[in-house]
Amino acid sequence: MSPAYKTPEQHDRWHKRTCARCGRHGWFTARRPAGHVCRTCHDKALRVRGQCPACGDERVLPGRRPDDGIVICPDCAGFMMSYRCSRCGHEGKLHGGRLCTRCALADRLNDLLDDGTGRSAPPSDPCQGAAPRCIDPPNTEGSRP
Ligand SMILES: [Zn+2]
Ligand SMILES: [Zn+2]
Ligand SMILES: [Zn+2]
Repeated sequence: MSPAYKTPEQHDRWHKRTCARCGRHGWFTARRPAGHVCRTCHDKALRVRGQCPACGDERVLPGRRPDDGIVICPDCAGFMMSYRCSRCGHEGKLHGGRLCTRCALADRLNDLLDDGTGRSAPPSDPCQGAAPRCIDPPNTEGSRP
């Protein structure tokens, strides 16, 4: 369901913000304590990894300390949302269903292999369409030359 917009201006007012990182006015992806951030800055920030200088944890460092601009982890930056994959716990950019790139990719692969039952298709049955002997193998032991 998409909300009804009366005017394009209203649409912009709801969805566009000035990015707290790069200062551009446009679509925002996340809301941070420091302000809204655009997709570009959001994704770029999530590629930064290392030891958080505030808590010492080895994590993604998408936050910034307001005082000195040093990159810090989401917890220390007070982010409302977590960047941990809901499946494997890997921290980073999340895709649909709050999955990390690796899990999202694995799901995509499963979808491609899906045989329609919701499970991954088993390796193709060598007996399918083959001669009946495949199902009921004749006793050929010892009868071969
Ligand atoms: Zn930006
Ligand atoms: Zn931290
Ligand atoms: Zn994952």
